[in-house]
Amino acid sequence: LLLLLTILSCKENKKSSFVKDTTHEAKIEALLAKMTLEEKIGQTNLRGVSSRATSLPTDLKESVRKGNVGAFLNIMNLDYVDELQRIAVEESPNGIPLIFGRDVIHGFKTMFPIPLGLAATWDAQIVEKSSEIAAFEASAYGIRWTFAPMLDIARDSRWGRIAESPGEDPYLATVLGAAYVKGFQSDDLSNPYSMAASAKHYIAYGAAIGGRDYNTVDMSEQLLRNVYLPPFKSAIDAGSATVMSSFNEINGVPATGNEFLLKDVLRGELQFDGFVVSDWDSVTEMVYHGYASDEKHAGELAAKAGLDMEMTSTAYENHLKELIKENKVTIEELNEFVRNILRIKFRLGLFENPYRNKEHKGNFYAENHLKEAKKAAIESTVLLKNKQSILPLSEKTKVAIIGPLANAPHEQLGTWAFDGEKEHTNTPLHAYQKASTNFMFAKGLGHSRDKSKKGFKEAIDVAKKSDVILFFGGEEAILSGEAHSRANIDLPGAQEALINELAKTGKPIVLVIMAGRPITITNIIDKTDAVLMSWHPGTMGGEALYEIINGIESPEGRLPVSWPKTAGQLPYFYNHKNTGRPADSVNFVSIDKIPIGAWQSSLGNDSHYLDAGFTPHFPFGYGLSYTTFKYADISISKETINFSENLEVKVSITNTGKTAGKETVQLYIQDVVGSITRPVKELKRYQQVFLKSGETKEISFQISAKDLEFVNHKLVKAAEEGKFNLWVGPNSAEGLKTSFSLKK
Ligand code: BGC
Repeated sequence: LLLLLTILSCKENKKSSFVKDTTHEAKIEALLAKMTLEEKIGQTNLRGVSSRATSLPTDLKESVRKGNVGAFLNIMNLDYVDELQRIAVEESPNGIPLIFGRDVIHGFKTMFPIPLGLAATWDAQIVEKSSEIAAFEASAYGIRWTFAPMLDIARDSRWGRIAESPGEDPYLATVLGAAYVKGFQSDDLSNPYSMAASAKHYIAYGAAIGGRDYNTVDMSEQLLRNVYLPPFKSAIDAGSATVMSSFNEINGVPATGNEFLLKDVLRGELQFDGFVVSDWDSVTEMVYHGYASDEKHAGELAAKAGLDMEMTSTAYENHLKELIKENKVTIEELNEFVRNILRIKFRLGLFENPYRNKEHKGNFYAENHLKEAKKAAIESTVLLKNKQSILPLSEKTKVAIIGPLANAPHEQLGTWAFDGEKEHTNTPLHAYQKASTNFMFAKGLGHSRDKSKKGFKEAIDVAKKSDVILFFGGEEAILSGEAHSRANIDLPGAQEALINELAKTGKPIVLVIMAGRPITITNIIDKTDAVLMSWHPGTMGGEALYEIINGIESPEGRLPVSWPKTAGQLPYFYNHKNTGRPADSVNFVSIDKIPIGAWQSSLGNDSHYLDAGFTPHFPFGYGLSYTTFKYADISISKETINFSENLEVKVSITNTGKTAGKETVQLYIQDVVGSITRPVKELKRYQQVFLKSGETKEISFQISAKDLEFVNHKLVKAAEEGKFNLWVGPNSAEGLKTSFSLKK
């Protein structure tokens, strides 16, 4: 019986193939018993090699030889990789292999769209594929560990790292988080073409006040658990081998020294059994936070919190031995770090196969890699406006290609594209040069921040000779990403000025935005006829856009983040709460309409800005298509469900336009009354359905009490009895509405 129970409970806990392997555990203990204190500390040590080094520093080799280093990051010299691993395996006391890590964020050589763009696909399959290809390519460099996926919910487009995020919604991030892990790690980490994932940055890094990177985070535990934690849980359930702690503090305690978050939540509740790595120097940053008095104290706090591996700073290397001697950290605590690290080395198969396979060249930019990168870029493109269906353009249209991003091979790769080579980038101009003769090109501006009007005349001349202007604008790669927040998120430089001038030609303007975040276009949208958001689309962005613009493919992306009218609305997110003001009394009076000299006027009741209203420019989930879809006949299987029943929701979708297309059908709920107030809407399911012109399909969703659970102020996670509103629609602001009840 005991055996049966054990088997059953193992099945319950099975996380794909990442369930603790007992043979590994035995080997870990055997190894641990042989390791000296110094070697144990060595395993917690993640080092880099200066990019200026012309050869491997002798002292570094010596450290590896003594077993004083556990892992390396960002080494791109293959001779160094081979040599360091050889020393570790052949010459260090216990021959423990090193892990080589790198930021392989949205592709290695073949660059996929930035993660926010990948999120706009809403397509778990393409996300998984992109990670699988990234792992395949990177493993040729001996890289078996990536510092991805970044699963920080981002509700503020000023924050530069929104580009790396899955957007603002916890459910979408949960679905995509698991897909990233599956793609990077495959079903079996010992597959030599896989990489260990690192779910980062744990946690709430995206909630930095004002969108300023690294800034303070102060939030309730319910918000943390309801919004910021679910994507991490999902990645861990999918087997994420490692987790990276974040730079920020939360409620006064830096995440890297946060015992509650690292021990109680991550190990206790989420049952994480891989290792936790700090972020770059985030252990010693605790000194600057004003939480640790010096490097040694920082090491002590990190160790007590349960941080297994230290990235780049040297608090463990310099002080753990002494801290153990002083009984401030126990040897058993250190043993546990080493177990966690060795466990992942065993899972990666590094003990059997420590060396990079020299035959494996990575197939960089192979045809199938480029094909998937192009598919991802197509799927990530969001059509925001399409006046009188100007897009797609007909074959005969003579286009003027203008703008700083029309032919910017480096910029369209986006942030964290260290290894993507611009020589391999396909820009929109390249795609036109290859496929068409019916175009003219004038850049107009040298780069996205260019304020000079020198190139305007040439651009205007070209525009006058054409039928349609394709303006490729946006941001250079460097304007988003780490430490690259912006207070103003309009098109930078003289781009708006140029668009205004081009509009005077009377030619229709198609604005294509390449950027790491939503760009506020309130000032110029009326000058455009169509707007496409292509994020930073990666290596194959050019062909992807060419095919969309010319109707070979249709834009299928949906916004993973609300698109603000002005940065002053930020933070903005669709799943906000109601205020005490009735939502249906919205009676917004804009600043221009307020009577002069008035004390009080009927300014409307809702929680708005006088000069920007209440709603975003485009809602979360939004995206047009070349065809149109009609939603009809929403039905639910029961008016009331109990805690163990499923609710089936059906709706029929018809493609009412002339071309085939894919619709992303989104299901939202609202828990009308709760023991704590609940968001106005929450995404709970979505499905992507392909429909031919005129075709109708019935879509069915299943939801249960489990999907209605939330963490309340007593920190209890449960669904509550009562009424729920439910919408099925094309985005978070539209949809067919029904309601049901949950009852015991
Ligand atoms: C970033 C991490 C990254 C690490 C290593 C840090 O500055 O916050 O996301 O993985 O550097 O490059």
